[in-house]
Amino acid sequence: MEKIEHIGIAVKNLENGNNIYKKLLGKAHYKIEEVKSENVKTSFFHVGANKIELLEATSPDSPIAKFIEKRGEGIHHIAFAVKDIQQEMQRLENEGFTLLNKVPKKGADNKLVCFVHPKTANGVLIELCQEIKT
Ligand code: ZN
Repeated sequence: MEKIEHIGIAVKNLENGNNIYKKLLGKAHYKIEEVKSENVKTSFFHVGANKIELLEATSPDSPIAKFIEKRGEGIHHIAFAVKDIQQEMQRLENEGFTLLNKVPKKGADNKLVCFVHPKTANGVLIELCQEIKT
């Protein structure tokens, strides 16, 4: 793992969240992106070497909608940048972590991603992400 790439925060309303985080961080988000496969709309803020990702559900069966229903708005996941996602997935599986997807999938912000089940990581949803080289 190289660094914390971003922290994902579940919000009920992205526009409202963008306004709050713009005030908090002193700058606006630099992109908004919809991830259709996950039924989420995201926005990204730079904070030094790291990012904040806000996530809004775009349908009631989105994982974000379910999260907010259960736990309310708040920190949803921590994402770590990795060099070789396949290798890290194999390593974590060997260490006994449960991976939520067996094959890396395309996430927001030009990344290949894999999620680690929170039950195997002390209640925190972990995301691995590798930059897609274009
Ligand atoms: Zn994320």
